[in-house]
Amino acid sequence: MSDVRTSVLIVGAGPTGLGLAIELGVRGIDCVVVERNDRVGYAPRAKTTHTRTREYLRRWGIAGDLAAASPFGVDYPSNVVFVTRLAGLELARFENAFNCAPAQNDLYSEHAQWVPQYRLEEVLRARLETLPSVDLRFNVRFESAEQSPAGVVSRVTDAGGGGSIAIQSDYVVGADGARSPVRELIGATMQGASGLSRNFNIIFRAPGLADAHPHGPAIMYWQVNPDMPSTLGPMDKGDLWFFMPSNVPADLALTDESAGALIRKATGIEMAYEILSSDEWLPNRLIADRYRRGRIFIAGDACHLHPPLGGYGMNMGVADSVDLGWKLAAVLQGWADPALLDSYELERRPVHRRVIDEAVGNQAAHGAVMRPGLEAEDAEGETARQAVGDLIRQTRHKEFRSLGVVLGYTYAGSPFVATEAAPAPESPSTEYQPSAYPGRLAPHLWLGDGRSLYDLFGAGFTLLVTDEDHAADVIAATDDAAQMGVPLEIVRVPTPGAADLYEAALVLIRPDQHVAWRGEAWPGAGILARVTGRLGEARAETSSDRLDAGSL
Ligand SMILES: Cc1cc2nc3c(=O)[nH]c(=O)nc-3n(C[C@H](O)[C@H](O)[C@H](O)COP(=O)(O)OP(=O)(O)OC[C@H]3O[C@@H](n4cnc5c(N)ncnc54)[C@H](O)[C@@H]3O)c2cc1C
Repeated sequence: MSDVRTSVLIVGAGPTGLGLAIELGVRGIDCVVVERNDRVGYAPRAKTTHTRTREYLRRWGIAGDLAAASPFGVDYPSNVVFVTRLAGLELARFENAFNCAPAQNDLYSEHAQWVPQYRLEEVLRARLETLPSVDLRFNVRFESAEQSPAGVVSRVTDAGGGGSIAIQSDYVVGADGARSPVRELIGATMQGASGLSRNFNIIFRAPGLADAHPHGPAIMYWQVNPDMPSTLGPMDKGDLWFFMPSNVPADLALTDESAGALIRKATGIEMAYEILSSDEWLPNRLIADRYRRGRIFIAGDACHLHPPLGGYGMNMGVADSVDLGWKLAAVLQGWADPALLDSYELERRPVHRRVIDEAVGNQAAHGAVMRPGLEAEDAEGETARQAVGDLIRQTRHKEFRSLGVVLGYTYAGSPFVATEAAPAPESPSTEYQPSAYPGRLAPHLWLGDGRSLYDLFGAGFTLLVTDEDHAADVIAATDDAAQMGVPLEIVRVPTPGAADLYEAALVLIRPDQHVAWRGEAWPGAGILARVTGRLGEARAETSSDRLDAGSL
């Protein structure tokens, strides 16, 4: 006899697991999230919440809550400053890194935000508390699972006194981080390279540090010096800072004492540094050779790991959770075929590969900027600083101007979206070029009344109509959707702006705001069959067991 029955068991309450629970919960799907820890403390590491992640939060109604959780306010300048050391000389500067400035931009509905990951997680957990179908349990460890055609039975241990519990579910998702036990369970292995360098992550309190240097406010100061190449920046109220020395020698031990000495040495600023937490981390370039076995999936850090430069890890995990979430919900609600679930790995893997390449490239660019004599206060030192400043501006901008990666990724080529004769357009990584080519993110538009076009999209599919005509097409689409039970919202935006942006009168948009099809006349029920996995052809082309993971 099973003790608990749910539709989806989610293992891990990091950003990926929390995001998945929200995506399911807002659709009324019941799920249980088990987290082996209490998930408190400073250890969660991300600070960059990208534009796209905040757009998901807007969809969930909590982008404003995240803005309110910003320790220094969303107006705090998102400058990234390269210096020899905090007490030293400036080399280069990037303003509005990651597009964190809250000014309205036509390209997106939400700016990025510099905010500690633990604050983001608090906002996600608060949203979960409003969703009655979600059951979040801390200090409960996932132990094992067995699946059959009928479902999965998992065994968990409740350290809070509940003992061993059996949880029966339709699906299990391992959002259980880099050492994922669920990944092991499904026999997936990580491919690539691990332990690319040795780094520390130190959180400290230092009242007065913000005023003890000449470089002005910034979110990150990169210190380029031979003593201790490192990054540091303000992290939270209460004079909390982070400090991340990179390429630390193997014989350097990490203690509170050595951490304080390292900060002094790297910054050149003598003051009291209260160490709050310190740990070691190793960047990896790894991707799982499979994301699924039957009814069990992995997402987030459990299936891809990359260096943090560019701030992609947590953001990718949240995007995985949205992709898998709407698809699981559609299958559980009965309006999509289980074949749609094959599209999760098929569509997300190329995105993960591109991001891994970007992050690894960022890491390589970082290693190449060190020069001797950078701190000399003579003409030679000035020349060296100019040269390094130029090199940083040329090679490091990709890390902080990455909208093409964040918004420009595509599912073109997936058998679950339409194909067009013209080749799919590419968005360069530093520049986002909107396109309504099937598979791409629906181009963004501000409406005359100040709303975002995205605010009009439904929780299911949306048919965007950019022309006054096409009443017959709309009726046909509505009838087809009703017959197939597919939720379809009709959104009329008959403006030249929308028509030009989408280059079509009719555009079918998925629940994740990606374009599924566009055209001048409704093509019939076949398109709904394709995008919901009910088309035999789409089913034949994919199978989770036949997906070629390739090599990294
Ligand atoms: C120095 C550094 C800086 C970073 N900066 C950024 C950044 O700026 N932007 C960004 O996007 N990302 C960044 N990242 C990456 C980011 O922190 C991770 O990608 C993110 O935490 C992954 O989220 P997740 O939910 O997939 O996994 P995790 O956060 O690892 O969560 C997994 C959870 O699963 C739980 N779990 C594991 N096993 C079990 C079990 N058996 N039973 C129950 N629960 C279990 C764990 O306790 C954990 O809480 C950075 C990483 C580092 C190291």
